[in-house]
Amino acid sequence: MLRKTKIIATLGPSSDSEKMIEKLIKAGVNVFRINFSHGTFENIEMYIKRVQKVREKLNMPISIMVDTRGPEVRVCSFKDKKIMLKRGQQFSFVSNNVIGDNTKVQITQKICVDNAKIGGIVLANDGKLKLKIINKKPNELVCKVCAGGELRDNKSLSFVNQHFDFEYLNKKDKQDLKQALVLGVEYISASFVNTKKDLEELKNYVYQFDKNIKIIAKIENRTGINNLDEIVANCDGVMVARGDLGVEASFEKLPIYQRKIISFAKKYSKTSIVATEMLESMITSIRPTRAEISDVAKAVFDGAGVVMLSGESAMGHDPVSCVKTMVKILKEAESEFDYYTKFNNMPKNPKTSNDLIIQSAVNASFFLGVKAIVTYTSKGTNALKFSTKYAKVPIVAIADTKKTFNALSMISNCVPVLSKKEDDIFSQTKSICLKNKIAQKNDLIIVTTGTTDKISNVLKFVKI
Ligand code: PEP
Repeated sequence: MLRKTKIIATLGPSSDSEKMIEKLIKAGVNVFRINFSHGTFENIEMYIKRVQKVREKLNMPISIMVDTRGPEVRVCSFKDKKIMLKRGQQFSFVSNNVIGDNTKVQITQKICVDNAKIGGIVLANDGKLKLKIINKKPNELVCKVCAGGELRDNKSLSFVNQHFDFEYLNKKDKQDLKQALVLGVEYISASFVNTKKDLEELKNYVYQFDKNIKIIAKIENRTGINNLDEIVANCDGVMVARGDLGVEASFEKLPIYQRKIISFAKKYSKTSIVATEMLESMITSIRPTRAEISDVAKAVFDGAGVVMLSGESAMGHDPVSCVKTMVKILKEAESEFDYYTKFNNMPKNPKTSNDLIIQSAVNASFFLGVKAIVTYTSKGTNALKFSTKYAKVPIVAIADTKKTFNALSMISNCVPVLSKKEDDIFSQTKSICLKNKIAQKNDLIIVTTGTTDKISNVLKFVKI
């Protein structure tokens, strides 16, 4: 069985060479994430160009997703890239331009230094470090370390229960986005989306450079959870950004939020990504922990379309082995998954003939030994709708532009094919299935087609 759940790998020092990018694709990566929080102009451009070069060479559908900094708070740089904070010591967050050391570090949002309250708690590095604000001086928050540990360049900070009025798109994100969109990427993962208004602000800016760019909203705090309906309705996919979500919201709620976010993605037929610490121990270890194995399988059982590697592929000791491990766990979990029951239990309220064709095609595909559903898609919209309906057979999506072909790599259970629509679509779909080893002579496939990407009005059984 072909693997359905797609894999995102974050690029970083352990994975950014062309050779490694090629190895990772061959191991099973479908999408590369480039995190603006950890990159300079030069390496963002270098990463994008390398992935473009390798996917062209391999002639495989691969997406590039750039991840914005968002209105988040991070520490800037340290003299030696990292420091070790000890419990009980004093440490300051400052807003003036200094290189960090063991006593202080600059942070990205001056508004926090100006407005944070004495007595407030600051969590650093995804909540692993805890500091209490004990004093305020001009441009400086003096803290006492309550729980120490390593603090590296660019690590995130969370001011617990303190609200600051950040603008959604900062100057740096605008510059980085413009550069990435001009070079050509398929997805933006938008950090800390709280409302539909944040998405509108982002779209207004990015559509100037690329009207077909797809937007993934990262849900990273309680406000995002509370506004899921309006957020999911207005983006192409959502990410369960468990790193920040686990800090900003109560950690015991994480598994529940994960299921909730995925169910909203299903409701609106959008991509759902589960991210962060999926195989964290493999940054240094050769095997995943038992809990990590179960966590990756749980993402499948919850219905996620995509899983993501962060530090494991960016700075781990063996990114290829992480991807291979993920592939094994995903395939095993998928082989146990009861697609038919899941499909039957989905709420079915088709609003258009297109929805009804998709629903009927998936229903029919469970019978008569059907081997695949083949559909034509210009922007990927129909392929995405199919992907959220729990079909057991693969969805072969035929796109006629490279941009959509690559973007389809993010879509679960989708086999992207690049081809112009021919006059005789039924003989075209037969030869595409044979060529891609999706089906053999005499097998049955289902073909859906229509006048445009958005409106399918034909469902046909085709014998190869
Ligand atoms: C997260 O918080 O889980 C996440 C994916 O965001 P980032 O890696 O940008 O912190």
